[in-house]
Amino acid sequence: MNKLVEFSPDNRYIIVEPGMTNQQVQDIVKEKGFFWPPDPTSAAFCSIGGNLAYNSAGPRAVKYGTPRENTLGLRAVTGAGKDIRVGVHTSKGVVGYDLTRLILGSEGTLAIITQATLKLTPLPEATKTLRAIYRTVFDAAQAVSAIMSQPVVPCALEFIDGNAINMIRQYSTSDLPEHAGAMLMIEVDGQKEGLDTAAEKVAASAKNDGLLDIRLAQSDAEVKALWQTRKALSPALRKVAPKKINEDVVVPVTEIPVLIAGLDQLSKKYDLPIINFGHAGNGNIHVNLLLDPDEPEQGKKAHHCLDEIFSLVLALNGTLSGEHGVGLEKRDFVDRELDANSLELMRNIKRQFDPNGILNPDKMFPLV
Ligand SMILES: Cc1cc2nc3c(=O)[nH]c(=O)nc-3n(C[C@H](O)[C@H](O)[C@H](O)COP(=O)(O)OP(=O)(O)OC[C@H]3O[C@@H](n4cnc5c(N)ncnc54)[C@H](O)[C@@H]3O)c2cc1C
Repeated sequence: MNKLVEFSPDNRYIIVEPGMTNQQVQDIVKEKGFFWPPDPTSAAFCSIGGNLAYNSAGPRAVKYGTPRENTLGLRAVTGAGKDIRVGVHTSKGVVGYDLTRLILGSEGTLAIITQATLKLTPLPEATKTLRAIYRTVFDAAQAVSAIMSQPVVPCALEFIDGNAINMIRQYSTSDLPEHAGAMLMIEVDGQKEGLDTAAEKVAASAKNDGLLDIRLAQSDAEVKALWQTRKALSPALRKVAPKKINEDVVVPVTEIPVLIAGLDQLSKKYDLPIINFGHAGNGNIHVNLLLDPDEPEQGKKAHHCLDEIFSLVLALNGTLSGEHGVGLEKRDFVDRELDANSLELMRNIKRQFDPNGILNPDKMFPLV
């Protein structure tokens, strides 16, 4: 099911079957000057069905939102075999319950999506890239709050912590100052005209007493050079721990330093390297436990450590997953985040859609 059903540039939507990849959709709509905002790094390989089932997103979510903000309607088949059409073809619509957003992020447990009407956004004319280095994670988090409180919303606001910076230093060349405790990569997009002023406004809000260095790229070569440190991270992690565990917890932005400090303590307690980076504007932090989960002793250690990480996140008013979902791995932790009444309602909804429990059975909720 990977066909284009309808592309309506004038109404800013495209209807596709779920097997089309994210990249294929981007390539089609780009021809007419549009993009579909959800941008997981896996875009070249992942399907629209998977993106919608997991509400997957990437750096752009901070400005443009996730599939939940960028999908107008769906066609789907429930577990009872009923064909349903939910949502609208318009940018407004309030008739009936919002089943579109209920199915989005439901991890394939309610219905199989067979068509999706995706809301398109005009491509920006230009992008400006900034890199800011801070003495501590606290200084970087303060900057994130300040950046997100002024009117120029960045289209990327990415964070890496001091442990990640140290790892990059070990495995590649880096031009970062010696005392760097955190780094932000910031991008601003929009019309060419006025974009320099917008970038300067963001740069001004990124400044605080803990700022060690801030650079605004003036050429494509400089953009590449600024992103180099961030891009060196994934290969370095692959080298150190190819089977690492990567969680994607979310906390309110002001709690990022408390989370990182807590993770450092857990790293010491369990003698486990933990590297953190992610989408700071959303408070969505990828917590990487560098171990081999297939090795029994390390697997056990990881389990206890994850248990404490999730408790910490929930104590900070956070959530267990920002974009990777629950699946099987996290289902036993879900009743710590959701209250019993909400959980019961959700189980009843599942029964309405899927009375025989045939759609992704035993996933997303603790077993009863
Ligand atoms: C290298 C790499 C980088 C990644 N980067 C990101 C990232 O930046 N951001 C991010 O959010 N995720 C990321 N991911 C995770 C993953 O790519 C996304 O979650 C993606 O959206 C999953 O799509 P898929 O086609 O691989 O889905 P699959 O793995 O095939 O399916 C995922 C789930 O969706 C359900 N599903 C699939 N199709 C449908 C359908 N038509 N109807 C109902 N349910 C359906 C399946 O049952 C399954 O439960 C990354 C993964 C990798 C391997």
